[in-house]
Amino acid sequence: MSLSFHLYQLQKLDSQVRQAAHRMAEINLLLTQNELLLQAQKYLDDASEAQKNVRGKLREIEISAHNKRIKMEQSEAALYGGMVKNPKELQDLQTEIASLKKTIGQIEDTQLELMVAAEESDQNFREAEAHLNTVKTEHASKNSNLTGEIKTLRSLLDRLDVERKALLSQINPTLLESYDQLIAAKNGLAVAAVDEDCCTACGSTLTAAEIQSARSATRLVNCPTCGRILYAG
Ligand SMILES: [Zn+2]
Repeated sequence: MSLSFHLYQLQKLDSQVRQAAHRMAEINLLLTQNELLLQAQKYLDDASEAQKNVRGKLREIEISAHNKRIKMEQSEAALYGGMVKNPKELQDLQTEIASLKKTIGQIEDTQLELMVAAEESDQNFREAEAHLNTVKTEHASKNSNLTGEIKTLRSLLDRLDVERKALLSQINPTLLESYDQLIAAKNGLAVAAVDEDCCTACGSTLTAAEIQSARSATRLVNCPTCGRILYAG
């Protein structure tokens, strides 16, 4: 067995640990962030606010229309009741009734517009409510998948930790030190396998002597080009 064998195995483990830890961090972020949920809730709140607003306006205008109609009925009663005889007063009543009719017509137009707007706001509210429910359901099911994945990752990390400790006990501390230095310096890749007489990390061609050293059980050899520890199985 070559001297770099255990370092090569260690590197495989470390890479798995890094991947699992990265995914864990990603999931934790997904679980704590629920942007979509917050957004859907905001849509619903806005729709509810708009609905209340238009309903309030509609009520106001209904009251206003009702009051104007009562006023008009009173004026009509006065006009046709025969109690008012003075031509000037009768003329005033006619003018007032005409004005009230016009106002009531305008109010009714606005009322119609508001009724259409109210229906739209009801529809928007129902849609926002349905959207929130969909997002809630999706979030819950996604979370259950993610929670399951977290459990799997945790047990994987536990297993890798046990394997790593067992492996470390077989590695000379001096070798480990140069491994750690290379991991830090070479972007997480300290050991490069030899394949078809080449360093698989940088692609440079190796001499027969270098390849032999990479197989050696007593010597470590570094790639002359990229500096990584060479491993040949
Ligand atoms: Zn190399």
